[in-house]
Amino acid sequence: MTSIWWIRDDLRLHDNPALRAAASEGEVVAVHIDEEISGVRPLGGAARWWLHHSLSALAGDLRAHGVPLILLSGDPEQRIPALVEELQAGAVLWNRRYHAPKRAVDARLKESLRAKDVRAESFDGYLLHEPWTIATQDGGPYRVYSPFARACRDAPPPRAPYGLPDQLTGPEKQLRAGGHELRSWLHDDVLEQELSRRGWLPTAPDWAGGLRERWTPGETGARERSEQLGELLTGYAQDRERPGMAGTTSLSPHLRFGEISPHEIWHLSLEEGRGAGHESFRSELLWREFAWHRLFHLPDLATRNVRSRFDTFAWREDDAALRAWQQGRTGIDLVDAGMRELWETGWMHNRVRLVVASFLTKNLRLHWRLGEEWFWDTLVDADDASNPFNWQWVAGTGDDAAPYFRVFNPERQQARFDPEGEYVRRWVPETEDESAEREAPLVDLKASRRDALAAYAALGEA
Ligand code: FAD
Repeated sequence: MTSIWWIRDDLRLHDNPALRAAASEGEVVAVHIDEEISGVRPLGGAARWWLHHSLSALAGDLRAHGVPLILLSGDPEQRIPALVEELQAGAVLWNRRYHAPKRAVDARLKESLRAKDVRAESFDGYLLHEPWTIATQDGGPYRVYSPFARACRDAPPPRAPYGLPDQLTGPEKQLRAGGHELRSWLHDDVLEQELSRRGWLPTAPDWAGGLRERWTPGETGARERSEQLGELLTGYAQDRERPGMAGTTSLSPHLRFGEISPHEIWHLSLEEGRGAGHESFRSELLWREFAWHRLFHLPDLATRNVRSRFDTFAWREDDAALRAWQQGRTGIDLVDAGMRELWETGWMHNRVRLVVASFLTKNLRLHWRLGEEWFWDTLVDADDASNPFNWQWVAGTGDDAAPYFRVFNPERQQARFDPEGEYVRRWVPETEDESAEREAPLVDLKASRRDALAAYAALGEA
């Protein structure tokens, strides 16, 4: 029997429950659909760059097993049934996703396939705990991280990773019987041509040079990085807050696109040891989990304040300040360093993300959505949950948000976390050059902090 593996954010062969189930049924054909779903925004530029390369890598890995990867675009509710018909497939299998508008598509498709006696099933490949399995005593979702994390740790532990499918083969007979179109998907030039048609790579200008230098999208890149986990976690507890060091795992884009599973990373960290770094790393994985569980219950996380009293907050409007922030020209060294790192590499250290987000929403008092949208377009790890969740957390508009009085002082943060100035020098080299012209600070840090606190007080938050 031929089974279709519908690829979404699970671009890997290892520990892939949907692929494993498809492979155990017989022959596999993989499909990726460039979807447009109402209520779901299109991928940002950096994420599109990533996905292009990740799909290309995955197609190569599948080709080695004779499994074609078909690229389609449009409405999955039409494209998948048509493909089932064409291939005479008996099953369509996929790993779950958790944003309500996408879940609605999947649920309708599942129903319509089953009505035609096609096996349609979904699996747990993206999160350690399914959102409906972690609930408070009265059955509702957790809104605060600490009790949520405790509940996860008290819940049945994340399942062990599955490894590679025992056997993986393509539809040999169909290919031999002249499935010309199907066979063409096994040629890398056909695939590359189709991928290019999606227009996901920047051309004029090509801004992706720094991304190419920093990252290897795809499962091989993810596994190479995870092999360094043991070494990294030994120093993680101390080094994770130092943006000048490579003290964190940089696994976020790989996890974002499912090139490695959280189950595999979780278990790897348990095998590697039980130090403070390992424990703290697993707490970070639970922050990821928390963000996704919140999105599951709050589909409008990217557009609506979780705490609605912020709907009347006095955000400022200032396009010039927004542009200066985006371009790393605020005159505040740590903020500028972070924003330039983001532009150049598609990633920013977590400590610096906190600082630049606090600066935008509190010192500049610009709406968190403006920052979230910029991150959406420029981060290689931007996702539907972690990005809006963290922005709302920093801005104070989310539940379990940073308290109003937490206005990070970028200068103090720099003294604490980049004491030798290594990070700032790397991204803002003019700090070293006395003859270089420097931006004057966009705002006075003390006065703008006072204004922010006053605006929060006016809401009854202070
Ligand atoms: P590590 O320290 O090695 O952590 C391991 C993994 O834990 C990460 O890869 C990530 O998957 C997860 N993780 C760690 N911290 C968080 C967190 N606070 N929230 C959710 N997951 C976390 N992370 C994203 O993956 N996508 C985003 O779009 C995103 N947007 C953010 C926006 C803001 C304003 C802030 C403050 C944080 C954001 N983060 C986001 C969280 C965090 O900054 C990144 O996950 C982290 O910097 C990735 O680096 P790493 O893989 O080396 O992390």
